[in-house]
Amino acid sequence: MIRFDHVFKRYPNGREALSDLSLEIESGEVVFLTGHSGAGKSSLLKLISLIERPTRGQLIVNGQNVNGVKRSKVPAFRRQIGMVFQDHKLLHDRTIFDNVALPLIIAGVGTKEIGKRVRAALDQVGLLGRENSVPLELSTGEQQRVGIARAVVSKPPVLIADEPTGNLDPELSLEVMNIFRRFNEVGVTVLVASHDLYLLEHFPVRRVRLEGGRIVDDIPAGVSAGEK
Ligand code: ADP
Ligand code: ADP
Repeated sequence: MIRFDHVFKRYPNGREALSDLSLEIESGEVVFLTGHSGAGKSSLLKLISLIERPTRGQLIVNGQNVNGVKRSKVPAFRRQIGMVFQDHKLLHDRTIFDNVALPLIIAGVGTKEIGKRVRAALDQVGLLGRENSVPLELSTGEQQRVGIARAVVSKPPVLIADEPTGNLDPELSLEVMNIFRRFNEVGVTVLVASHDLYLLEHFPVRRVRLEGGRIVDDIPAGVSAGEK
């Protein structure tokens, strides 16, 4: 589903964020991406979502070589990837419905289909019935769930999340991870950048640890961090 083949990412200021990185993530996997601040986690996710381009090497996402995706095709490419952020980036002057509908409106989906899909996405995150609220009327945890609904409303095969639980207490973090797991159970490949130790302890999924832009550890699902 995602394959990095000797990928380098160097920013214009000369900073090398990823260095000769090779990584393969199968369809249907859940993977935690860990490592200290500055290790390259965000950069790796930004390459998958084509927010940034590799400097060198090859990256295949859902059968497509990102190097071959023209700038005009980037929005269409991104529709296959649901993105969840720590600061959920909701539009505060729009309703929950409008926030979740946004990717579908941009994609030119019809009104009736939008209504159906938005309600399905809100149902999946436990927020059906809150369509007409605005973000500030919701708790932090609920706002994060709106961000997740928006990420999955286009039914992407891949979901990537950058520190999705950074602002949440442990209980809400587990809730968010459980929502990701339910998407995974229906076949979505999930990649979560996190240094939330509480989450890592509770979900024995594959863990890839970065350090200085290189993979220093790749622990398969089912092995607890302590055993390694
Ligand atoms: P992480 O998400 O693990 O904290 P990042 O991918 O954000 O790591 O950063 C990896 C390295 O790349 C850091 O040294 C960071 O300062 C640098 N970096 C990240 N984004 C940029 C950018 N847009 N321009 C220059 N350097 C950057
Ligand atoms: P918050 O703490 O963010 O305010 P709550 O935990 O109080 O949210 O839950 C608000 C509502 O959403 C409750 O009715 C709860 O049953 C429902 N809910 C919470 N988490 C989920 C979930 N993961 N999936 C479905 N429904 C949920």
